[in-house]
Amino acid sequence: MLDTLRRTIQEVNRAPDLQRALSIIVTRVKQAMAVDVCSVYLVDADHGQQVLMATDGYNTQAVGKVRLGFGEGLVGVVARRAEPLNLDNASDHPAYVFTSEIGEDPFHGFLGVPIIQHRQVLGVLVVRQRERRRFAEQEETFLFTLAAQLAGAISHAGASGDIARLLQSSDESRYALKGVSGTPGAALGRARVVFPAADLDAIPDHVPDDVEMEIADFRAAVEAVEQDMRRMSQRMADSLPAEDIALFDALILMLRSENLVEGTIAGIRAGNWAPGALRNTISEHVTAFEDMEDPYLRERASDVRDLGRRILEYLQSVHDVSRSYEPDTILVGEEVSASQLAEVPVGYLAGVVSARGSSASHVAILARALGIPAVMGVDDLPVGRLDGQQLVVDGYQARLFVRPSRAVREEFQRLQREEAQLSQELEGLIGLPAETLDGVRVPLYANTGLLSDITPSLRCGAEGVGLYRTEVPFLIRDRFPGEEEQRRTYRQVLEAFDPAPVTVRTLDIGGDKRLSYFPVEEDNPFLGWRGIRIALDHPEIFLTQVRAMLRASSGLGNLRLLLPMVSSVGEIDSALGLIRRAYEELLEEDEGLVFPQVGVMIEVPSAAYQVRAMAQRVDFFSIGSNDLTQYLLAVDRNNARVAGLYDALHPSVLRAIRQVARKAQEVGRPVSVCGEMAGDPGAALLLVAMGIDSLSMSAASLLRVKWALRSFSLQQARELLDEAWELEDGEAIRALLHSSLEAAGLGGLVRAGR
Ligand code: PEP
Ligand code: MG
Repeated sequence: MLDTLRRTIQEVNRAPDLQRALSIIVTRVKQAMAVDVCSVYLVDADHGQQVLMATDGYNTQAVGKVRLGFGEGLVGVVARRAEPLNLDNASDHPAYVFTSEIGEDPFHGFLGVPIIQHRQVLGVLVVRQRERRRFAEQEETFLFTLAAQLAGAISHAGASGDIARLLQSSDESRYALKGVSGTPGAALGRARVVFPAADLDAIPDHVPDDVEMEIADFRAAVEAVEQDMRRMSQRMADSLPAEDIALFDALILMLRSENLVEGTIAGIRAGNWAPGALRNTISEHVTAFEDMEDPYLRERASDVRDLGRRILEYLQSVHDVSRSYEPDTILVGEEVSASQLAEVPVGYLAGVVSARGSSASHVAILARALGIPAVMGVDDLPVGRLDGQQLVVDGYQARLFVRPSRAVREEFQRLQREEAQLSQELEGLIGLPAETLDGVRVPLYANTGLLSDITPSLRCGAEGVGLYRTEVPFLIRDRFPGEEEQRRTYRQVLEAFDPAPVTVRTLDIGGDKRLSYFPVEEDNPFLGWRGIRIALDHPEIFLTQVRAMLRASSGLGNLRLLLPMVSSVGEIDSALGLIRRAYEELLEEDEGLVFPQVGVMIEVPSAAYQVRAMAQRVDFFSIGSNDLTQYLLAVDRNNARVAGLYDALHPSVLRAIRQVARKAQEVGRPVSVCGEMAGDPGAALLLVAMGIDSLSMSAASLLRVKWALRSFSLQQARELLDEAWELEDGEAIRALLHSSLEAAGLGGLVRAGR
């Protein structure tokens, strides 16, 4: 049975469309269970009906025609109760409805199980037997297990617009695929599925006819890959500073290495054709790297593999076929890489969708820097079926519409126009202070990571940097940046904003922010080795970074240092000890060096309850609402399956934040919020009402938040908070904020997809 189950699911997953998938299901189930009929009904939510969509055993003419109301007939009972129904004689059941179209007369035994995905009943799978008999428990569990797994396959097909089309449903958003947001924004375009094309492992040995020709071909291929890398790097250089694309230089160096080139040529001379010799060199290198003790070197194996694949593509001349891009390309893949993104001419790239990864993935970071909407972590992404399809990427709500109807396309085009218009209108606020109607100033700072974030932050009038995520430059490199390299990067940010404050956070890796050259394998990475924990266990990494920051601040005095993922005061003491040590050492070289203000991120629940003790050690607090929400609600911030539970407006999150704000006020320490929540105009009003002193957000959100603050008095914001306080869930609080913004004439902030 298990085997049948596995095979059926594989077949269904390979089916070209939903209709084919459903007919495979009914045929296979009928065979496997030796029943007389198997049918699938799908729920048509628009009309509150179950529709017969496929059958093996009933009259096939009835497909698409038989429709049962919700709760009507036995199928309706299964769908409504979301439970199996097993009857020896169907017509004895009070809910039984005779449907003549399907030729149901001779059947008695009935077993129906619901097909459920993400709490939604998608349909009902039914088997019938001529004779009267109750199905055995094993049969029931078989069908049940199959239905549970089919739900994924059906919703794949459904997401491709098939269900909506088959049922002529008007509500496509019901069937949209869900992921986690990488970059907000809306994109319309055609899918371009990217994949590792050439398979080195499949290359056989082969004796070459002409050794010199093979060598020449190989050299040409290496040359071509190098040109590609340079082109990629250059193309990105038009949009991003050189610092941010260091990744490509490292790959070129590796490509030109003596071992790789000469090793392969020696293999050709020894009697193998170029692809075979290349396979051998690459595999030797990969094994050698994988065997290394040093984690950084071990990770190089994947780069070598990638380069090998690229050279092979040229040797096999598949390169030109697979690399031409059209305008409005939406890059789609199992795991879209930064180099795949870089291959698309910037003006042609409309969006990015990846089955794996999160907002911390390289590709998401680059997409954000380029302002390209991206949806990551779409578990159910049917990658194999998407190439060339029309897509709508909804980066605001992390949704993907495949083959969207005209109505959906028009809706998103309208959204794009409204966004553009709103952004233009908001420009007028750039020079105006961020203050409430009654004159309370709330400094608005920018969150940055890449150097390319600096210009937009300055342009929108950020009053400094409230969170510089230093892990970003670490993430896009292929090794730890050295002290001098780091100093130069930090200096550029500090200088760009001088004399405004720049809050530089020490390395916050771990969780989903994994460095390819510092691999950490953990079952529970978000509860594992993260942020300050790694820093204290590796003082050499921490000290190098702190020294670089201090040296970068020489003569400026606007550096503020922020410690991430702190869960107890002992960590602060240890970190301060190291910071002092670095400072004292550097003081010998630079007498004018100022000891920076040091602050702590409040993003772990335990920290939220030790504000007083922490305040004795540090100068300021910054609330990381992204992690605080994740840890308070026990919801992985990057897991699309539980994304519906992740809500920074959850009453418990608001209560934790208010308690931090109050304690910080009592002990006289300023407190800001630097999580995504600060960039949500409605939430920002609540935060200010709670007594949060400043807000830090992405440049794209800053003017929206300023508009909201300038439209309310502190008193009004407090009244809004009082009202929100009475509500019991985040959804209700969001609705309240939206209606208040609308009432204040700020409907644009709500409508523009946020
Ligand atoms: C946060 O957790 O809210 C935060 C600002 O840090 P990050 O998103 O980088 O984890
Ligand atoms: Mg955090």
